[in-house]
Amino acid sequence: MGFGCGAGDLFSLEKLERDGCVEYRFSSTRWLITTAEIHMRTQVGIIGAGPAGLFLSLLLQRIGIESVVLELHSRQYVEERIRAGVLEHGTVQLMRELGIGERLNKQGLEHGGIELRFGGRGHRIDFRELTGGKSVTIYAQHEVIKDLIAARLKAKKPIIFEAQDVSVDGLGGDTPSINFRANGVAEKLECDFIAGCDGFHGVCRTSIPSEALTIYDREYPFGWLGILAQAPPSSHELIYAHHDRGFALLSMRSPEISRLYLQCEPDEDIAQWPDARIWEELHKRFATTDGGKLTEGPVIQKGVTGMRSFVTEPMQYGKLLLAGDAAHIVPPTGAKGLNLAVADVRVLAQALGDFYENGKTQILERYSDICLRRVWKVQRFSWWMTSLLHRFADASAFDHKRQVAELDYVTSSRAAAQTLAENYVGLPMEFYE
Ligand SMILES: Cc1cc2nc3c(=O)[nH]c(=O)nc-3n(C[C@H](O)[C@H](O)[C@H](O)COP(=O)(O)OP(=O)(O)OC[C@H]3O[C@@H](n4cnc5c(N)ncnc54)[C@H](O)[C@@H]3O)c2cc1C
Repeated sequence: MGFGCGAGDLFSLEKLERDGCVEYRFSSTRWLITTAEIHMRTQVGIIGAGPAGLFLSLLLQRIGIESVVLELHSRQYVEERIRAGVLEHGTVQLMRELGIGERLNKQGLEHGGIELRFGGRGHRIDFRELTGGKSVTIYAQHEVIKDLIAARLKAKKPIIFEAQDVSVDGLGGDTPSINFRANGVAEKLECDFIAGCDGFHGVCRTSIPSEALTIYDREYPFGWLGILAQAPPSSHELIYAHHDRGFALLSMRSPEISRLYLQCEPDEDIAQWPDARIWEELHKRFATTDGGKLTEGPVIQKGVTGMRSFVTEPMQYGKLLLAGDAAHIVPPTGAKGLNLAVADVRVLAQALGDFYENGKTQILERYSDICLRRVWKVQRFSWWMTSLLHRFADASAFDHKRQVAELDYVTSSRAAAQTLAENYVGLPMEFYE
């Protein structure tokens, strides 16, 4: 089992022998080790070292609450997984507050707006002007993950990578636990609470009896073919392009690396898309009447992503609290998935803080209701951006005209542009008593 670095990098632990067991203390987390099974105890067991789980661990650490993070994959895998790239204003501020803003400050690309391109012309939505100075920052999710892991390990707090066969138990009682295997050894982590931060395909949501949950689900009849290209971005800011051939998005990861997406079939065969075909299609969808050009470069990664909207209600069951993609999925058009995961765990950390510090359960009991208010607003925005910009195969001529009229309205009415801007930079966080 690797505490921290995945490959057996064990920090020095305090060792106490008693009652036939060896007890290891790691801060206030205890491992009771017998020959057959290892028992551990912590306050909050966190399943998943994605943005939700890792941000939660740091937020809890800041207020003196102990946690153990369990992750299915290796450290290298999670630090290299290519995903989101747009951080809301509040997510950036939180990283700075948590003391993990150093690389973000150097490498993050702050954007004060986006371009909506349709009818061959670009229209800028000026976030700073429309939101009282707010912006978004382009900083890849895997870089955020590296910063979070480094901070957690620097504080000598445990992350158990490559945890196998993770399951949860005793959710309705006082001592829920997480069972898992590490290096072939069966282990049990006893906790006060379990945070289910294990993403859409994790085990936490599916451990809740189905009759206790209501699921809201919508699949879209298209996907995104995404590439990373070794090419300087052709625009300083993101371009969302509406085109008769389908939607396209120009984004970036750094001044040298472009991230580009094309609307495609949900089950598109990537083998049918050699690089030359991808560039040809991108050129068509981003074409402007003034002859603006896309910069090409070697494609270093490509893949197809499906699009869905998904919400689980409630987001808690007994001592299990779901956060992030484990509870909800948004289509990526609004760039919200990572940011919504962060918003959930901010509420969760506040609720747990109130419980441990003041013995109060009011916020904990309302955790799901509090989160779902924001979740549904973000669902609405992500659905709206998706509907505004994509080509729907069954759309009538009327639908098409209405869609273009809406783009025209959003880019010509201050009120409409402001609605887009305040949602894109992130709705304010609300805190509860
Ligand atoms: C192509 C793409 C582009 C995106 N673009 C954006 C964007 O621009 N902006 C944005 O905000 N969001 C974006 N998103 C969404 C964003 O990446 C996710 O919403 C975000 O990763 C959710 O974080 P999470 O921690 O809830 O879940 P995850 O990141 O999925 O983390 C869950 C973790 O749990 C682990 N795990 C799973 N099962 C188990 C188990 N049984 N035991 C232990 N661990 C387990 C997983 O390995 C993973 O590390 C994008 C997503 C994709 C796919």
